Amino acid sequence: MNKHVFAAALSSVMGFTLPAFADVPNPIDTPYSGTIKIAVDATDLAHRIFKINETIPVNAGEMTLLYPQWIPGHHSPVGPISQLAGLKMSAKGKVIEWQRDPGNVYAFNLKVPKGVRELHVEYQFLSPQSSEQGRVMMTPEMLNLQWDTVALYPAGHYSRKIKFQPSVTLPKGWQFATALEKSSQKGNTVTFEGIDFENLVDSPMFAGSHYKRVDLNPNADTPVFLNVFADKEKDLEISAEGLTAHRELIQQMYALYGAHHFDHYDFLLALTDKLGGIGMEHHRSSENSAKENYFSDWDKSWVGRDLLAHEFNHSWNGKYRRPDALWTPTYNQVKEANGLWVYEGQTQFWGQVIAARSGLWSQENAMDMLARLGATYDQGRPGMA
Ligand SMILES: [Zn+2]
Repeated sequence: MNKHVFAAALSSVMGFTLPAFADVPNPIDTPYSGTIKIAVDATDLAHRIFKINETIPVNAGEMTLLYPQWIPGHHSPVGPISQLAGLKMSAKGKVIEWQRDPGNVYAFNLKVPKGVRELHVEYQFLSPQSSEQGRVMMTPEMLNLQWDTVALYPAGHYSRKIKFQPSVTLPKGWQFATALEKSSQKGNTVTFEGIDFENLVDSPMFAGSHYKRVDLNPNADTPVFLNVFADKEKDLEISAEGLTAHRELIQQMYALYGAHHFDHYDFLLALTDKLGGIGMEHHRSSENSAKENYFSDWDKSWVGRDLLAHEFNHSWNGKYRRPDALWTPTYNQVKEANGLWVYEGQTQFWGQVIAARSGLWSQENAMDMLARLGATYDQGRPGMA
């Protein structure tokens, strides 16, 4: 049923009139006028709440704000809308009413009054407290800020044509890592250079109270850093063997591809039993997590050690180049699965090969993983005898 027909029917049955709502406008490849300021206050560790304020340049008339639904890397419509809370809009000190689009729970419709040029929007993103509620994004020791979880953006333009100016306020004494370029810092508040929404979503942040930054390609023109955050300070100690393998990972990937396209790259790595697990690719960074003993118990932590090789490979296969159906102009359009066998399949293959070549895995580790793969597909699969 068409959603307008549904809404009209619902109105008459319920005996009230729903406010007018508009279809979410199709995006066009032209710039959104002005820069959206997004300020994230990530200091409420007790409640694990990210508080967000946006200032959006607007024109009078109907408009729609979207919460990202189709998240790159997830390949599915999993934007955590249920964790968005407390949405309020105002302009010139007056409340602006908004309405959840009856046909699209990720869209919020409003009407900007005449004479208003700036819309203030405030809301919160509630990190789960435990894994039963979803992925834990904030703990007493660290946080993972993903811009697609904290940003609302105007419908009607390609994501790459909407400019944002992001800033983040962190708990006192915490350090951070991100591919974003810092423009200034005042106390615990860091402001970053303006960036389009597509690259903002592609540039998450890790921050925490226990942090170490390691240069993985010293003296190179293109810096590559490993940014390690841990629940405990002692887990930041990196053995010579561990450091050598992670440095070799860069050289092996460069040897595989023969060129690189990024101007710098930051591995974000959380060694934690508390933050939700992650392995997520980006153009100039990746989000990774592992158990606390990743470095401290090197001989026993090898099983997941192809993760960084996998995510780094995605910078070439998936980010710099991508099967066309897996790109859409905004985060609220369906991404098709065509080409995932290249995007993920080839990356998984090279991730494992490079883990072995770099020494993240020994030869024995690599052979064991190959045997495990064979065993996984040995029985009960379509086409097997
Ligand atoms: Zn992948």
